[in-house]
Amino acid sequence: MRLRPEIAALTAYSQGRSPSPDGFKLSSNESPFPALPGVLDAATAHVDLNRYPDGAAIALRTRLADRFGVEFGEVIVGSGSSSLLQQLFLAAAAPGDEIVYAWRSFEAYPGFVTVTGATSIQVPLTEALEHDLDALAAAVNDRTRVVVVCSPNNPTGPAVEGAAFEAFMAKVPAEVLVVLDEAYREFVTDPAAVDGEQLIGRYPNLVITRTFSKAYGLAGLRIGYAIGPARLLAAARATAIPFAVTEFGFAAALASLDRQPLLDARVAEITRRRDALRAALLEQGWDVPQAQGNFVWLPTGERTAAAADAFFDADIAVRPFGVEGIRISIGEEASLERIVAVAAALIAG
Ligand SMILES: *Cc1c(COP(=O)(O)O)cnc(C)c1O
Repeated sequence: MRLRPEIAALTAYSQGRSPSPDGFKLSSNESPFPALPGVLDAATAHVDLNRYPDGAAIALRTRLADRFGVEFGEVIVGSGSSSLLQQLFLAAAAPGDEIVYAWRSFEAYPGFVTVTGATSIQVPLTEALEHDLDALAAAVNDRTRVVVVCSPNNPTGPAVEGAAFEAFMAKVPAEVLVVLDEAYREFVTDPAAVDGEQLIGRYPNLVITRTFSKAYGLAGLRIGYAIGPARLLAAARATAIPFAVTEFGFAAALASLDRQPLLDARVAEITRRRDALRAALLEQGWDVPQAQGNFVWLPTGERTAAAADAFFDADIAVRPFGVEGIRISIGEEASLERIVAVAAALIAG
């Protein structure tokens, strides 16, 4: 039985270890809050399990189109923004083509590229663990079909600057699709950071992706959206698995959009905790990069595995990355003190 060797070699996505029920799961950038009040009831109120969901997602796409001031065809939804990223890659790239993105960045990108048969071109982050937009633009050639910009960057935290992103767009040929992955945009507090919403309609080759998984706390339902030129999105839709988003997802997303003030309050609480944690870690002497998502990066280098174990011993699950560092999601208020204590012991040891 012959398999595609590059697929057989792909290691399945690993979710990491679980803490005890009294511990803190800070390894997947999930929201520590349950879905917004009333969302669970709304999600389960009117679902006929014997029927397929609305494959065209009319209600939610109409609602998002209104919210962002675009046409219906300029927004699509998918089973998480992960699915939309893969669909966009499949729509644009095939064997022999190249997809360019920063590294380290979202750990799902390499696998999505491999599935298309195209080749990954990974452009190193700067010393400050930010996107090197000049180097990304310079990596574009005749074979390039997609460039992905992740802002804020998972797992390191910095957002791309708005003016720098526009300068970058001016350098990328209009035939090359640029995907601005804004999975964490709701948490951005830096006014200079790029905001995809402000760029809608400005470029024929720009698509932004966002998700209900992180700020909205709906990771378990799998729902995200993309906004961009209708022709690009129609192509991405054509690569989707039919009916990949359920009526539960549509209803929960719509109900969440009805509760924007509550969402804003939760996001403000998370960014307050994030900034407090980063300040405490900086004070201990850690070189923590700008943190614009719902997570912070601890550069533990060669000691990364041991550091992850130290957090796990304190009943905190974090996400280690090779010999680079650890990503810690912003979770429960009570986790902050414990994180700071473990980090203090690590820097002393
Ligand atoms: C979490 C995440 C996503 C998508 O998550 P979904 O749950 O599939 O919507 C996309 N990009 C980045 C960078 C992420 O961290």
